[in-house]
Amino acid sequence: MTANASAETPVTLLGLGAMGTALARTWLAAGHPLTVWNRTAARAEPLVAEGAKVADGAAEAVAASTLVIVCLLDDASVAAALDGIDLTGKDLVNLTTTTPAEARARAAWAEERGARYLDGGIMAVPPMIGIPEAGGYVFYSGSRELFELHRESLAVPVGTTYVGEDAGFAALHDVALLSAMYGMFAGVTHAFALIRRENIDPVAFAPLLVNWIQAMVDPSVEQTARQLVSGDLTTDVVSNLAMQVAGTKTLLATAEEQGVSAELIQPQFALMRRLLATSTGEEDLTGTVDLLLR
Ligand code: NDP
Repeated sequence: MTANASAETPVTLLGLGAMGTALARTWLAAGHPLTVWNRTAARAEPLVAEGAKVADGAAEAVAASTLVIVCLLDDASVAAALDGIDLTGKDLVNLTTTTPAEARARAAWAEERGARYLDGGIMAVPPMIGIPEAGGYVFYSGSRELFELHRESLAVPVGTTYVGEDAGFAALHDVALLSAMYGMFAGVTHAFALIRRENIDPVAFAPLLVNWIQAMVDPSVEQTARQLVSGDLTTDVVSNLAMQVAGTKTLLATAEEQGVSAELIQPQFALMRRLLATSTGEEDLTGTVDLLLR
């Protein structure tokens, strides 16, 4: 399909929150005929001047295009918006953030109603939409055929990364990355708390923190991945577990000295001590991954 052929693909978009509105503008700018619906109709008005057709209801919006994209608050709002609507022959692409199980159930639900289904997890915030250099993308999973068919239209707002036929995998990748982000934020929060009462300029401290995290993250993430695949936890270990557990005492004592709660870093240290209790201490932290599995 050429870029021009893709631009002729009509798109229906359900949901004009912050994200849906940003997505809508990119399809309009790229020349796609766009039909929109939002529960609160007033949110659609600004898009009319940009060329969007506003449907009277979700059913009318769904009927307008084969490619139906949904970007609502959560899975319950998807259920509410599409309740009782005929999806026969539709290509339903759900960009709403859900759990993997919700995505799988929604895929089965859509297929029972005669639709093909693709799930998406958006790795971008609204200002990144339509700005390729911002680096945002959407994880897609579910029907590969559907992904390939609509790849160009889906790539208009933001990059696309297909992660498998299992409809839950986009949500799983999305949540895994977000969970890692919060772990990183926890460390950053603790670091700023440690310097908070001192005569240290947080603005001068920030690039030191950023550079340190960046220097640590690549090698450690890649090493963990390699070790999880090989099962060999002791080759190429740079900072062994025994040394690291010993070092945590200094980190906890420093938190105490600075009058800072260790609540954000304690859980990881507890996991490291549990691993050391069953290990020679020659490995690094990869073994904590499996300690989390229930
Ligand atoms: P908003 O809160 O801005 O918008 C929520 C949308 O859901 C609105 O269109 C709202 O309609 C609609 N909605 C809520 N409940 C219902 C319901 N019961 N029935 C019908 N419609 C309903 O959220 P965003 O646009 O920011 O987010 C949309 C999705 O995108 C979410 O799943 C979010 O996790 C995901 N996302 C958002 C990011 C962001 O930074 N904003 C980043 C990555 C993913 P109404 O206007 O009537 O309230």
